[in-house]
Amino acid sequence: MRILVVEDEIHLAEALVQILRKNNYTVDAAHDGEAGLDNALTGIYDLILLDIMLPKMDGISILKNIRKEGISTPVILLTAKGEISDKVTGLDSGADDYLAKPFATEELLARIRAASRRKGEVLPDNALKFGDIELNTATLKLSTVSKEIKLILKESELLELLITRKNAVTSKELIIEKLWGFDSEAEHNNVEVYISFLRKKLAFLNSSVSINTVRGVGYVLEVKA
Ligand code: CA
Repeated sequence: MRILVVEDEIHLAEALVQILRKNNYTVDAAHDGEAGLDNALTGIYDLILLDIMLPKMDGISILKNIRKEGISTPVILLTAKGEISDKVTGLDSGADDYLAKPFATEELLARIRAASRRKGEVLPDNALKFGDIELNTATLKLSTVSKEIKLILKESELLELLITRKNAVTSKELIIEKLWGFDSEAEHNNVEVYISFLRKKLAFLNSSVSINTVRGVGYVLEVKA
């Protein structure tokens, strides 16, 4: 799988290239908007990590250009923290996802797996681990060393989100945004239903992992002592 990184902060670009190569992706980097667009227009990439603020041409313009040319390569926008309007414009312009800088490596890799799955590719490494559980996001199997159970897609997506956020509390709003999309009709009840399904499945597995409710804030995974 070949990834294009378009990022003008050289240190970040180099770090991304290293991380991705270590995870067996083929990577090219471009450090300004024009070079990024030239590369992207070749259509050879399976995924593009695209910074928004770039010299010569901004990321949103690149995105609009490549979509206009009919290139459907999944694009993950890299946004500076809190640029809500950029996120919305980006998603409206045909981005598949966005990631706020700074981000954790695990989250970046999970988003890349998710974006490339949407393209219909199955990657060899779909396993996520937390405590004594392993989630395979391709087969939707949740397992411990001694037992396994099949999840439905929404349960898998929800657990994947909680695992990739590790010790951070995940709000119901974020869960709705990730699982159902920005302008969906999904409500807090929907989230509560899937959380309760997941809790039952974790209990079935006798897992030491639990989903804790942080009242008024959201949910966080915890490993029971
Ligand atoms: Ca930049």
